[in-house]
Amino acid sequence: MECDFFSLKMHSPSHSLRGLFLPVCPLITPSVQFPKKPHTLLRPLLPFIQLKSSSCAALDIVEPNYPTSDLAFNNTRSLPGRVHDGFWKIPRKLPNPIGPNLLPSRRIIETDAKCRIERGVSLNSKEMLRWYSGMLRMCASKGSLNEGKAVHGQVIINGVEPDSHLWISLVNVYAKCGSLECARRVFDEMPEWNVVSWTALISGFVDEGYGRVGVDLFCKMRKEGFRPNEFTLTTALKACSMCSTLDLGKQVHAEVIKVGAFSDLIVGSALVDLYAKSGEMELARRVFSCMPEKNAVSWNALLNGYAQMGDGKEILKLFCEMTVSEMKICKFTLSTVLKGCANSGNLREGQAVHSLAIRNGCELDEFLSCSLLDMYSKCGMADAALKVFGRIKDPDIVSWSAMISCLGQQGKSQEAELFHLMRHAGVRPNQFTLSSLVSAATDLGDLSYGESIHAFICKFGFESDNSVGNALVRMYMKTGSVRDGCRVFEAMSDRDVVSWNALLSGFHEKETCNQWPRIFSQMLVEGFKSNMYLFDSILRSCSSLSNVGFGKQVHAHIVKNSLAGNDFVGTALIDMYAKSNCLEDAVVVFNRLIERDVFTWTVIITGYAQTDQAEKAVKCFSQMQREGVTPNEFTLASCLNGCSHIATLANGQQLHSMVIKAGQLGDMFVASALVDMYGKCGCIEDAEAIFKSLVSRDTILWNTIICVYAQHGQGEKALEASRSMLDEGTMPDEITFIGVLSACSHMGWIEEGKKHFNLLRNIYGIAPTIQHHTCMVDMLGRAGRFDEVERYIEEMKLIPTASIWETVLGACKLHGNVEFGERAADKLFELVPEMDSSYVLLSNIFALKGRWDDVRKVRTLMSDQSVKKEPGCSWVEVDAQVHVFLSQDSSHPKIRDIYLKLEELGQKLTSAGYIPKMEHVLHDVTDKEKKENLFHHSERLALAFALISTNPRKTIRIYKNLRICGDCHDVMKVLSDITNREIVIRDIKRFHHFKNGTCSCQDYW
Ligand SMILES: [Zn+2]
Ligand SMILES: [Zn+2]
Repeated sequence: MECDFFSLKMHSPSHSLRGLFLPVCPLITPSVQFPKKPHTLLRPLLPFIQLKSSSCAALDIVEPNYPTSDLAFNNTRSLPGRVHDGFWKIPRKLPNPIGPNLLPSRRIIETDAKCRIERGVSLNSKEMLRWYSGMLRMCASKGSLNEGKAVHGQVIINGVEPDSHLWISLVNVYAKCGSLECARRVFDEMPEWNVVSWTALISGFVDEGYGRVGVDLFCKMRKEGFRPNEFTLTTALKACSMCSTLDLGKQVHAEVIKVGAFSDLIVGSALVDLYAKSGEMELARRVFSCMPEKNAVSWNALLNGYAQMGDGKEILKLFCEMTVSEMKICKFTLSTVLKGCANSGNLREGQAVHSLAIRNGCELDEFLSCSLLDMYSKCGMADAALKVFGRIKDPDIVSWSAMISCLGQQGKSQEAELFHLMRHAGVRPNQFTLSSLVSAATDLGDLSYGESIHAFICKFGFESDNSVGNALVRMYMKTGSVRDGCRVFEAMSDRDVVSWNALLSGFHEKETCNQWPRIFSQMLVEGFKSNMYLFDSILRSCSSLSNVGFGKQVHAHIVKNSLAGNDFVGTALIDMYAKSNCLEDAVVVFNRLIERDVFTWTVIITGYAQTDQAEKAVKCFSQMQREGVTPNEFTLASCLNGCSHIATLANGQQLHSMVIKAGQLGDMFVASALVDMYGKCGCIEDAEAIFKSLVSRDTILWNTIICVYAQHGQGEKALEASRSMLDEGTMPDEITFIGVLSACSHMGWIEEGKKHFNLLRNIYGIAPTIQHHTCMVDMLGRAGRFDEVERYIEEMKLIPTASIWETVLGACKLHGNVEFGERAADKLFELVPEMDSSYVLLSNIFALKGRWDDVRKVRTLMSDQSVKKEPGCSWVEVDAQVHVFLSQDSSHPKIRDIYLKLEELGQKLTSAGYIPKMEHVLHDVTDKEKKENLFHHSERLALAFALISTNPRKTIRIYKNLRICGDCHDVMKVLSDITNREIVIRDIKRFHHFKNGTCSCQDYW
């Protein structure tokens, strides 16, 4: 321990920065919220700023490979030579391929042409061109390719020289009818291009889903120097969103602004759609709000973006705005909003949308019904979901499965009925329905129901299906029917990783986990190559087994499978080694990993924190940040826990500032860890300030502050907090009561404690755990009510553990009860012969009575059992560096100054009338030796050092690994008065705040 602490050197400027850390707590009020994601605020207003610098040349960056490989022009055989050499033989009189049911447009073409010929009207060339263009436009709008071809044929046969209008109409008709090769050939044939012909071609490709080609064509067009119009831009944006090229999309956005098309409704909607589909909701929102006019398309684009992000709240907010703006609401909007309600579990809004659907008359729409079903089932309204389901005319297997799994999740018995109905309706269950039913049974933990489905599965012949088999294995394993699970597994014909995983999941329990090595070797024998997920699962079991030997074997296989560099497997390995207390092996694996994400870092940091190496944990933490990995709440909390264990306040404060920087202060998990850290480091004011600054508090946070108050002997505040907790509607749990009871015990409030103990059982229905009983025994024992203690232990329903007897022994020492003490010690020697404190306490009891023979006997017993007494040790943090002192220590570099200071303090103590309590020296030595022995107790060395090396107004915080002795307690009280310093000592049981000659424990400890 000593070496550990001496190596702790922190370079954090704790003094000067302290002011920065601490006062922030009261500042964290809603009015001064720290941004959760500061980077989003700093993100430049990209497209808007880019406008200045954007030039058309910017678009040339994306140089297309033209023609692209997206669309293979391999249909060349049907396209002989040049288009206008007459690529189809067009008969003068058009045959009627479709029969008497002529399409209206065809009739128009024929009759129109016939009339003209019959009437002998000779059209001048201009009229002729216009007429052909008109025909082609009509064909394009109807999507009739054959008629378009026919018109094209007439143009060729009649030897018409097309003007630019007709050329465009030709490109357009092929593009609109999906005949992209022809469109492209006509386009290539054109003597002159313009923006309209380009747009016609591009939109043809984009409409057919060839976004990449659309993007390439757009770039080519820009390179050729054509300025896009709003239609081109809309098409280009659509193309960008199709192939998610956000960068180009932003350049197009700049063009939109340049050509002044920004206020165009269609362009605006396309922009919103592009950003929403790319997940850039902030930009989408900004464009949307700038649009002077909005339609259903733009609203839906934005809504869909939020739906994609799963942001139900935002969807609902937006929908409210939409209804206020009196926008017409279509079924797609409603379905999107329902998705939002389902994701955020917002039933009330969902019901409102439902009523809107009824009002709009689209309730019975199949598409919307499925969304309604989904919403009700996710909001836990199985009955409402069932009603919707009943109205679906012809439910398909998807709706059936959705309904069945919804009922399964809610534990409704109709599920089986529905299943029967489904079979009745002639819908044959498929493997998905069946495996979803099995999963439902698994989640319900209903084995008999699961078995009945298993019977169905055999009847329908699905037992050989891989997904059904996997679901069955998982169900049997999870419900504890390991043998049945193994049987299904053995019978499966094709096993995959999921099957092995399902099988192994049954062996996590203590009794069965020794099967792991056997199953693993069977897997190897069967030649099954494990993948990273399976290794992860296996390693997890090793850490729960603490079977490092097996873990190392698995590690060897991982290396053999060349998965050692995989960060996922690597993290599992590190975790396994760290949990098995092989931190050095963990570090080796960690250092070899190339890619380390936040989980990997968290695992190694937790490893350090749990082995009381807070300084290394914090160092690791800063390195992680330097490497650009953002910590999550678990990283921060586990680091903070490390600091609270050994009370390194400077490290904790540094972490506090990191928490603020990371914007994680609102996280309950992190906040609790912070409160706990300050509490354990003796800074109760800071713990309190953080607690009070939080807007919402959960049970864990309340428990933390209650326990902090209890440890600091602020019983009044602990009880008050437990009352406020109830006032705020937070339910207490068993930990809350441990806090409350230990507060009562520290304060010596026996009646209050008994009252709370009864509340625990009778009002909250919590079965008292051994910790609660320990608190009660402690409470009675401290007050010296040994008869009651004995009765209590006899009457309590649990078998007394070591912690109970240890508490009894402590109380016996406090009151000098030799007889009961001996009995308690005997129990302890039986239960935990290796625990040093029981021998020490017993010998202390004998020593207090001067029974030195018995003391020697206990010491002999102790050395016979080769138990060593943990040396008393205290530590104090000065200038962010931890200094450790053992009792009678003389190794500190400043030991001379420390002894001089102790000498000076001794004289002051004597003149203040202090007489040392010799009975606290537990060795059979002379009084002079006893006095010296007392004077060199570790906490006094720590105090003297702190006095000579810190600012005279600073509170001194000392931490001790054992209980403070009665004499040191007296001395600290007197010294706090003489030196006018506040001294806080954390011993193994609680905190003592010494100030102006008194202690916060009121000498009751
Ligand atoms: Zn002492
Ligand atoms: Zn005290």
